[in-house]
Amino acid sequence: MKNIMHASFFIAFFNHKFISGVLIQILKRNKPFIPLLFGSEYISPCAVKSSSTGFLSAIERAIEEEEYRKARAEVNRKGLNVEGYSIEGHSIGGHETCVIVPQLKAAFDIGRCPSRAVHQNFLFITHAHLDHIGGLPMYIATRGLYGLKPPTVFVPPSIKEDVEKLLDIHSTMSNVELNLDLIALDVGETYEMRNDLVVRPVRTHHVIPSQGYVIYSVRKKLKKQYIHLEGKKIEKLKKSGVQITDSVLCPEVAFTGDTASDFYLDPRSADALRAKVLITEATFLDDNCSVEHAREHGHTHIYEIMEHAKWIRNKTLVLTHFSPRYSIEEIRQGISKLKPQEEMEEAAYGLELSNVHFIWVVRFPTGEEQVVNKLEETLPQGFLRERGRIVEGRAPQARILKHPTIGAFLTHCGWNSILESIEFGVPIIALPMNFYSDQPMNARLIVENGVAVEIARDGNGKLHRGNIAEIIKDVIFGEQIGEDLRRKVKSLGENIRLLRDRDE
Ligand SMILES: [Zn+2]
Ligand SMILES: [Zn+2]
Repeated sequence: MKNIMHASFFIAFFNHKFISGVLIQILKRNKPFIPLLFGSEYISPCAVKSSSTGFLSAIERAIEEEEYRKARAEVNRKGLNVEGYSIEGHSIGGHETCVIVPQLKAAFDIGRCPSRAVHQNFLFITHAHLDHIGGLPMYIATRGLYGLKPPTVFVPPSIKEDVEKLLDIHSTMSNVELNLDLIALDVGETYEMRNDLVVRPVRTHHVIPSQGYVIYSVRKKLKKQYIHLEGKKIEKLKKSGVQITDSVLCPEVAFTGDTASDFYLDPRSADALRAKVLITEATFLDDNCSVEHAREHGHTHIYEIMEHAKWIRNKTLVLTHFSPRYSIEEIRQGISKLKPQEEMEEAAYGLELSNVHFIWVVRFPTGEEQVVNKLEETLPQGFLRERGRIVEGRAPQARILKHPTIGAFLTHCGWNSILESIEFGVPIIALPMNFYSDQPMNARLIVENGVAVEIARDGNGKLHRGNIAEIIKDVIFGEQIGEDLRRKVKSLGENIRLLRDRDE
């Protein structure tokens, strides 16, 4: 988690089916914004309520607008570099979305018109909510002002006529020509942006007509029937005018805009779900806004991304469009939920390597049963049956810790778990998971007191199975480390029990 950068995105790297996360959304706000009601999507029962009306609320709004402006200026020009693409822009649900990929000369959606967007020749509009299209006239006009060539703007076919009318009105009102190449590109159609780059729309599922876009690189591949030929013969064929190569399309960058999670289950989303980079939305992040609420408004809840992770084959997933109801801390917390899956799997491999017997208590917001299935799929066959037990949900932790055969307790370092472990004289292997809680501090404290060893992460905050296995072995079998820990934790445990008995 060292890579905290300033931009309005969250990014998660998908490595095969494992997820890990690096948070990159920064908008400094102490309290949530009052959502500005752009379009209909924001009218929701759990929208932030303004306590005052009239004059006061106008001031409140002005202050928030000012905060918003400042935060926006702060994230300006700061982006991410992923899979060879730099990605910039802004994305806050209901306020504005504009994601820019300069290498492709492309901008996706244009809720307002950030200055960096003006220099992109291609603009892809996903749907007509104002936080996604509001900046369009300004984008075209500013390009005109700078003497840049008319842009190519892609829209879903159903809104093309209305967009033309809108631009006509602006043109008439301002007496300025708005020059552009407006293209209604339908799902199933292909448009050639360059001879090595094409775009295809992909179906998304929102409350009004919408579509995402997948941008493909076009590569030439030698036809199968010529693969066995020598270089000279191939050269000769080529000179004689024979078509010796096939064109292969490789999905590079996909952008969904607003969509419900049905997108992940639609077989036609396959290319978007295997693009190098998928830029999509996770508008809702916690239990205050349910999955049902997200679905009703055509949005995705982060729980659904966890649920559908197995369909996501992208190397990098960039999450955008967080609801403005969330403070930066809440966004960090929401996103930290994406981490455990990979970490659990890495821990599983660490356990496998360490050769110890274990009981593993698994709790997961999407349902424990699914996790057990996922773990069984991931782990070497027979692994769970031979040496371990997985206990779903709540386990009788105290009873387990009390048992004389228990050699160590691997824990995320919640305070109660730590106390329980010390009380029963069980050495701790500390694996703090949530960086925004007291877990890391608890871990440091018990390590300093000599009753725990912490599993270290690398510079990118990642865990490594080899390292996990080493530590487990040291604690369980290690003559020096293990014995030291047991001695210290026993005496500390006795002291705790003595103190408690005296108080009672
Ligand atoms: Zn939106
Ligand atoms: Zn929308």
